[in-house]
Amino acid sequence: MAPAPENPLTNAQRQFDIAADLLNLESGLRKILRVPQRELTVTFPVKMDNGSIEVYTGYRIHHNITRGPAKGGIRYHPSVDIDEVRALAMWMTWKCATVNIPYGGAKGAVVLDPKLLSLSELERLTRRYTSEISILIGPDKDIPAPDVGTNAQVMAWIMDTFSMHSGHTVPAVVTGKPINIGGSQGRQESTARGLVYVLREASRHLSFDITGAKVAIQGFGNVGAVSARVLDEMGATIVAVSDSRGGIYSRNGLSINDVLAHKARTGSVIDFPEADHVTNQELLELPCDILIPAALESQITEQNAGRIKARVIGEAANGPTTPGADDILYDRGVFVLPDILAGAGGVTVSYFEWVQGLQEFFWNEREVNAQLERVMVNAFQNVLRIAQEHRVHMRTAAYLLSVGRVAQATTTRGIYP
Ligand code: NAD
Repeated sequence: MAPAPENPLTNAQRQFDIAADLLNLESGLRKILRVPQRELTVTFPVKMDNGSIEVYTGYRIHHNITRGPAKGGIRYHPSVDIDEVRALAMWMTWKCATVNIPYGGAKGAVVLDPKLLSLSELERLTRRYTSEISILIGPDKDIPAPDVGTNAQVMAWIMDTFSMHSGHTVPAVVTGKPINIGGSQGRQESTARGLVYVLREASRHLSFDITGAKVAIQGFGNVGAVSARVLDEMGATIVAVSDSRGGIYSRNGLSINDVLAHKARTGSVIDFPEADHVTNQELLELPCDILIPAALESQITEQNAGRIKARVIGEAANGPTTPGADDILYDRGVFVLPDILAGAGGVTVSYFEWVQGLQEFFWNEREVNAQLERVMVNAFQNVLRIAQEHRVHMRTAAYLLSVGRVAQATTTRGIYP
């Protein structure tokens, strides 16, 4: 059964309200932090390869910039809407604060299916969108990064367009860009690596072994596929993966290298030989130890939370679990590593990339991963301590930490004028 339509913004605000209540947040602070600070909607033309003109809608939203420049990815997806971007921007504020990096939260999007455009159409669209949002972005104002439907090449076009307008090269205007133009070692794998560091901490806390654990992963893009590879290398058994077209399941485990090759050849994981077909919804309910949502929002809801068999959910995606589902999972003893913690590896190494770009001093991959591990382990321990002290689940604990930090920064700075 498909999940009931959910509004990600309503869910994000509900998560915030739970923390605000527990923190006894003063009503003025509550009003400030519950809504985005700035929203830009753009509609812009793109000349297509056949000479026709199409008009696209895009967004760039800053939820909060109290703790530093706005930071957040850019999504290219056919069904993205402004409430989704608002929610994603808000989650970025809390994510940056959970791992204590000096950024506010932002998100951008263009409503389109990138698979339907040629490479040169995608380049023209990206360059025009960059021009349209150039009043907001900049290395000390707002630093975009990849998200669903965008990648390092898209970041290179954004960086080049911004640099052309500036008259000089500005690498620190985006992160997640290719290494040969100032990207960071380890950035591409960073969200997955960050997830694996907190999964490892969770496995120690819960006394189970990742080696031999059965893992199901929804979404086989940058985050999902790299998570599959890293966990496979650690000795976990990846029993199921999926993409927008559906999923595959093998009780004894999938050969991840073969699935990657199949996807490279056919464009999808489906029809992989020697595996059963499952839908994206069925995948969530498969017997496994670790479930990793790595696709879109609102996948685990009140409708299916009671049927989830995993012991641990590692949220690589943003907003995959609704607040109603959280309560059901908590009551059933499922340990949820929330998105604003488990998915924070990407923005953490984005921060490292930005620092390296500003200093023009670059680190090797070992240094990047060691710093990432330090940040993720620290954040996990802080969130776990709060969860135990307040007897709440890990999401609410992460919100208590992050909302508390942003509220405190707001109070310290004061309200202008
Ligand atoms: P991606 O575009 O590389 O991959 C997305 C994957 O999800 C693809 O396999 C796609 O086929 C699949 N998908 C799309 N629609 C789907 C649907 N309706 N049902 C099932 N699968 C679907 O994107 P990504 O960068 O891997 O991002 C995945 C998730 O991780 C998103 O929630 C994103 O916000 C989050 N995230 C990404 C980063 C990053 O650094 N890229 C960082 C933190 C969090």
